[in-house]
Amino acid sequence: MATNRTFTMIKPGAVRNGHIGAILEHIVAGGFKIVAMKYTKLSAEKAGEFYAVHKERPFYGELVDFMSSGPIVAAVLEKDNAVEDFRTLIGSTNPAEAAEGTVRAKYATSIGENAVHGSDSDENAAIESSFHFSGTEIY
Ligand code: ADP
Repeated sequence: MATNRTFTMIKPGAVRNGHIGAILEHIVAGGFKIVAMKYTKLSAEKAGEFYAVHKERPFYGELVDFMSSGPIVAAVLEKDNAVEDFRTLIGSTNPAEAAEGTVRAKYATSIGENAVHGSDSDENAAIESSFHFSGTEIY
């Protein structure tokens, strides 16, 4: 059964381009409640760990470099059917294929620098949330 929480990061490119406010507004307007949030930065080691599932992919090094290149906003979001609905809100991985009006269509600059992360399953949402937040930081 779907849980009601997902995990997101506003990636370094979108932070650098000044889109934190607009993206948070888009998320809240989409019916998501922010239950945890922090402005932080991933070390290369931590970014590598977060994306370890992609270790064998050709873009892994580039992804780790990018995700540790500057601050991010990490957040836990709550809504019925959160994981699936958030993936719909952000759009396809490749912004060129993302539906009009989605976060990636509006704010991503490339498939690698695609503005936001969104968990792809309830299981990963829980793992990724606890990667960034302790239980006492989620309200
Ligand atoms: P998503 O973030 O939409 O779940 P994936 O899990 O497939 O997508 O990939 C994780 C992240 O790796 C993407 O968000 C993107 O930043 C990067 N990425 C995926 N595919 C590519 C690619 N072909 N070239 C460069 N970076 C990529």
